Amino acid sequence: MEIGPTMHYIMGGVRVHPDTGAATVPGLFAAGECAGGMHGANRLGGNSLSDLLVFGLRAGAGAAEYAKSRGSAPTINSAEAEAIAGEMLVPFERKRDESPYALQHELQETMHNLVGIIRTEDELQRALAEIRGLKERADQTGVEGNRQYNPGWHLALDMLAMLTISEAITLAAIERKESRGAHTRDDYPETSAEWGKFNIAVRMGSDGEPMIVREPLPEMPIELRALVEQEVKIGA
Ligand SMILES: Cc1cc2nc3c(=O)[nH]c(=O)nc-3n(C[C@H](O)[C@H](O)[C@H](O)COP(=O)(O)OP(=O)(O)OC[C@H]3O[C@@H](n4cnc5c(N)ncnc54)[C@H](O)[C@@H]3O)c2cc1C
Repeated sequence: MEIGPTMHYIMGGVRVHPDTGAATVPGLFAAGECAGGMHGANRLGGNSLSDLLVFGLRAGAGAAEYAKSRGSAPTINSAEAEAIAGEMLVPFERKRDESPYALQHELQETMHNLVGIIRTEDELQRALAEIRGLKERADQTGVEGNRQYNPGWHLALDMLAMLTISEAITLAAIERKESRGAHTRDDYPETSAEWGKFNIAVRMGSDGEPMIVREPLPEMPIELRALVEQEVKIGA
């Protein structure tokens, strides 16, 4: 039996409002694994379930409220919808130079080996170069068959999102030059009070490239800080 560490939670995710689950993109709501910020720098065992129960309800209520506030159903721009549908079908037209399965395997290896539990600048920079290389190759991915029950096609489309997220995780890990929670930088082993004052957000810039932004965090209430510091001492 092969035994090894595996990824089982991502602390980052779509940035949402805590009361409604609303993202900065109007009409987009998120909760659970795909939402970020709920568990600070490390999710404690079992807290995922409570997160889903509480924030799933809030996001659902937030989305319902948003829908009601719209008055009427939004109209769909059919030209935009057709353009997106056209982009999704492009892999069928390409010569099958790159297999989506091979790309996925390479991305998994890169993230596992270079952006894992313990990180260094050198490894993260290598990962970034590899991810960007994979992005270029993903644009050449071709698939066979037809549109019915075609997991290769689905994977070719999913790869674009996986690469975007992998790049965002790697960029944020390079940016945060300290160790905090599940982010352990071998080259910056200390936890810094200064770095604890902000989150790192990765947004798409006007040139379509990822842009790193430091977003200040609200000051922690005194009573909460006392609890957290006590926990840190007990943990240490
Ligand atoms: C190995 C492992 C161990 C874990 N252990 C624990 C633990 O002990 N305690 C704990 O609290 N948490 C644990 N977790 C974390 C917890 O399981 C997850 O955070 C939680 O299940 C996330 O739930 P979710 O509903 O947000 O997302 P998911 O369960 O990932 O659900 C997302 C759903 O969306 C579907 N989907 C994806 N893309 C599309 C699409 N394009 N269209 C339609 N549907 C789509 C997927 O098929 C999936 O059903 C563990 C996770 C792993 C991987």
